Amino acid sequence: MQICLVGGAVRDQLLGIQSQDRDWVVVGATEKEMIVQGFRPVGRDFPVFIHPNTGEEYALARTERKSGHGYAGFTFFASPDVSLEEDLARRDLTINAMAQLPSGEIIDPFSGQKDLQDKVLRHVSSAFSEDPLRVLRVARFAAQFHHLGFQVATDTMSLMREISASGELGFLSAERVAQEFEKALCSQHPLVFLDILKQCNALDCLFSEFSRLDLEPLSPSMLRLKILNPAPELSFALLCQAISELQEVNTASLIQDLCLRIKMPNRYRDLARQFVRFYSFMSDFAQLSPQQKLTIIKELRLLKEPNTLPELISLYLSRDPQMTHEDFESLQRLLQRIRALSPQSFMTKGLTGAELGKAIEAAQLDICALDTKYT
Ligand code: ATP
Ligand code: MG
Repeated sequence: MQICLVGGAVRDQLLGIQSQDRDWVVVGATEKEMIVQGFRPVGRDFPVFIHPNTGEEYALARTERKSGHGYAGFTFFASPDVSLEEDLARRDLTINAMAQLPSGEIIDPFSGQKDLQDKVLRHVSSAFSEDPLRVLRVARFAAQFHHLGFQVATDTMSLMREISASGELGFLSAERVAQEFEKALCSQHPLVFLDILKQCNALDCLFSEFSRLDLEPLSPSMLRLKILNPAPELSFALLCQAISELQEVNTASLIQDLCLRIKMPNRYRDLARQFVRFYSFMSDFAQLSPQQKLTIIKELRLLKEPNTLPELISLYLSRDPQMTHEDFESLQRLLQRIRALSPQSFMTKGLTGAELGKAIEAAQLDICALDTKYT
């Protein structure tokens, strides 16, 4: 049995960047031998095992053939006879189709090292078209490696267009779409992900909500945001706010539908909705009545979740470069004052239940009124 490092870990090592995870391929072994060695079988569809100590994934070398729709529509063939080269041939991109032997030697049958040097995302073979997930993976790698200068090879882009035209993208599971989208949102250039999907006509099928977005003018905002706060939820919120500026869009329900459809975690939905709301009132905040101010502050849950405010401010600053941190100081002070109100002091006056609630709200309104008077 021969065990080699494969895929992303080899690629990232050659690029000199930190890898997310390490994947291993095992050549010349049977499932039984793996179990005897203490590996835990986990693969439902193909033979993958977890290392008893490291928790890393070890897959038996395999070949595959398309047998149905979507990412899961494959028949796998794993046997001790499948060679390392055969296993590498089923992979998506040349830069992901390299292995490293325990001696350190790199096995590179598809010139992945040259493509790393030339900064090209290129498919391994025409079997690329058999899995629609690869469209999303290429777009995601284009976003992740954009800062290094990587481009999608022309032929690969043609295959991606063919996949889009075939209708196969519609068979991808929501989880797979969300997983690649999240990785793209974590990258320095999430807009590149959408741009590549647009170029290969996949955006209408996968993220129709973003189809009408003009991506180029958004680029400076996204770059500013990535410096202020690179978290993926913020990048998503920025995209959603840009959608809200398109006419005839009910952004709140659009965000809700999008997050439900591709099963994005709720924190994405919540921050996106909060920012769309925040952006719409912030420029006029000082002019609002005390009641309006308090309503919005509560609607945005800024009293219960004060950590959201710095995130909303970063988003706003990236969207509107005319604004500075100082423009948010009065809002921050107002929130501090309201939060400093102690329910205890009202309780010691004997107030409880609805009465207590009313008294606290009256005091909160007084603070907002003072704020209105002095701004
Ligand atoms: P990441 O840095 O996000 O982990 P990765 O390239 O390691 O990127 P993984 O999902 O961990 O991606 O997959 C490990 C390897 O398995 C890939 O490098 C590639 O060789 C292969 N692979 C994964 N998904 C596919 C796919 N859909 N089609 C072909 N090969 C794939
Ligand atoms: Mg990986």
